[in-house]
Amino acid sequence: MDKTMTQAHEAQVGGAAKDHRKDEVLLSVQDLKVWFELRKFGFGISGYVHAVDGVSFDLHYGETIAIVGESGCGKTTLMKSILALYPPTAGDIFFEGRRLSELKASEMREYRSNVGYVQQDPYGALPPFMNVQTILEEPMIINGIKDKAERRERIYRAMEEVKMSPPEDFLEKFPHMLSGGQQQRVVLARAMELEPKLIVADEPVSMLDASVRVEILRLMQALQQKHNLAVIYITHDLSTVRYFSERVFVMYAGQAVEKTLIDSIVHDPLHPYSQALMEATSDPDAANATRYRDVPPGEPPSLVKPPAGCRFHPRCPYKIDGLCDVEVPPHFTPKPEQMVACWLYK
Ligand code: SF4
Repeated sequence: MDKTMTQAHEAQVGGAAKDHRKDEVLLSVQDLKVWFELRKFGFGISGYVHAVDGVSFDLHYGETIAIVGESGCGKTTLMKSILALYPPTAGDIFFEGRRLSELKASEMREYRSNVGYVQQDPYGALPPFMNVQTILEEPMIINGIKDKAERRERIYRAMEEVKMSPPEDFLEKFPHMLSGGQQQRVVLARAMELEPKLIVADEPVSMLDASVRVEILRLMQALQQKHNLAVIYITHDLSTVRYFSERVFVMYAGQAVEKTLIDSIVHDPLHPYSQALMEATSDPDAANATRYRDVPPGEPPSLVKPPAGCRFHPRCPYKIDGLCDVEVPPHFTPKPEQMVACWLYK
């Protein structure tokens, strides 16, 4: 690889990182609601699935946040809205101060190049009929990088950053010729090559063998730090968030129930649902695995007709009758940097 180009790039990346202080907001999600219509044939709309129901948070440049919750809690819908795949039913998403719903086609293309996406299933994310070279080159062609030499230089740099070195050993291979860990490294390289400001990672290690999960998490941590990337890490597994998240955002039934710092969620989770999730936690690094218990008992509620009051009340051992099942708990802040939606903290 051309050393001059690499040095120029590193100077550029370092400069970009310094341009933005960590207290500047990169992404702002404001009272977002994403509802899906339920239709009965011949009878029109019969109801709505309240997949995301009033979620707000800010993400700063270079900050990492984990969004945690069980299947069906709305975290994937939230992620797809951030990726501009689902339009908001209400509320807004801003990126660098610009409202996503108002972006023109060319601005949307620029937005997509600023947001890298790491999928859960690396094999499903890679076109089986393309080799690694083509898979990595295609997004750059779509994003108007016309210079073949520049594309080649970016591919080599991304491959080396994800530890697929030397790149020549992998570029001609098709996805089925790679291990699960190597496939996920290609997905990461594809997410990194356009030099994004934000990476959205959807359960990036949940489909990998236990032996490579920690390796991929550590690689993501190294990339995040090197490039001062903001990361939204979506997971059902609280045990993995400590690898590179600073803040945790716990979702239940389409809503935020706790927002806090990683140390607080590990040592002092406030919401009964967060406490139950922590109880169900095991560490992906076998050396640190200390506990594994059952997931919170019961099922998440229907998002078509969510329970009145606190949506967790049918499963909550601390439910206050006549309050929790009637009144929606507001957001309390019992400690700085900790928000919890639970009547126990009024
Ligand atoms: Fe449990 Fe009530 Fe708190 Fe909901 S508001 S988590 S039901 S104690």
